[in-house]
Amino acid sequence: MQTQSNPKTQTQQSNVVFTRTKATKSGTKESPNWVRISAASAIALGFKSGRFTQEFEFGGINLLLNYDDGCKSDCAYCGLARTRPGDYEDKSFIRVEWPLVETDTLVERMRLLEAKLTRLCISMVTNPYAFRDTCTITDTIVRNVRTPLSILVAPPTLNRAKLEEFKTRGVDMIGIGLDAVTETLFRSLRTDVPAGGSGLSWTQYWKIVSEARTIFGPWKVNCHTVVGLGETDFDLIDMFDRLVSQEIFPYLFCFNPEPDSRMGSTPKSTITRWRRIQLAKYLVEQRSYKVKDFEFSNDGSLTGIKTPSATELVAAANDGIAFMTNGCPGPNGEPGCTRPYGSYKPSESYRDYPFLPSTTDLQRITSELELDGLTL
Ligand code: SF4
Repeated sequence: MQTQSNPKTQTQQSNVVFTRTKATKSGTKESPNWVRISAASAIALGFKSGRFTQEFEFGGINLLLNYDDGCKSDCAYCGLARTRPGDYEDKSFIRVEWPLVETDTLVERMRLLEAKLTRLCISMVTNPYAFRDTCTITDTIVRNVRTPLSILVAPPTLNRAKLEEFKTRGVDMIGIGLDAVTETLFRSLRTDVPAGGSGLSWTQYWKIVSEARTIFGPWKVNCHTVVGLGETDFDLIDMFDRLVSQEIFPYLFCFNPEPDSRMGSTPKSTITRWRRIQLAKYLVEQRSYKVKDFEFSNDGSLTGIKTPSATELVAAANDGIAFMTNGCPGPNGEPGCTRPYGSYKPSESYRDYPFLPSTTDLQRITSELELDGLTL
């Protein structure tokens, strides 16, 4: 395995200049030398013992940058939010623990298990060193592992040149954690904290979406969207339509309250609403439905789907794909990033399935969907 270059002596390889020199404290476990990995990734790579509630092939490895001073952003629903009580090191992210591992050890483990891996992803956080450290970790991964790599980017830390730099270094796809699907909601939930040169703003997020789409091409960019932050069904379906028409994937997450976060006591969406939104997104993405093919009440709730026949809708639900976890694909287009527990606790039933739902799962999904009355 090739070793990771020392960030202090890293040579400039392109038009992007790393302007800051990090004052590394000895003994700290910060990126780029250390990263956090999801609990599911830790189990899959043998860093942690444990079993999934149901056995399935798991090959999506999610990394998260780690800094002693944490993420500078303060999103109302996020477990890593700056003002959420507790030490950053102990904070959970999407409700599950993210163990810290040494980057070199992790990459070596990924290299040995490469045949089982489907997608790798580095999640940035809003931190002045995030771009430089993501480049360093990307280089180490790309030199050693051929599994396609995504970056879930922190838009406040980026610009066009930096996105081009990711592309040059071998990144395959870009994800943008939009989460809130309207500007009003985004502003109310995602505090505008200056970091890395610019603030967390709706305009900057969309600028990065647009630049990434230009640089990485069709279906190589995705936006994470969350159900249950206060948006309406119309807001979500309108956003799916808008993204799909630009050949950008909308990926769906279910809001899952993080204890002690500002939205810690907000309930998650009902299962029926969640299932209907999953189906609506599938219809937009895979069956060319537009927002005009759905009907809404005055408060924006989904009340009907204009479908040629009820049978078509039932068939669309029954193929099960609508209810699988959305994520960047594997090398052959198969599900790559399946993030078990991204939208539900390990003790809860699946909100999204990291595998094709079984006949029994589909019976349960069908009753949760309550499709009667939605066909127009
Ligand atoms: S879907 Fe998974 S791999 Fe793709 S950007 Fe999101 S977290 Fe990363």
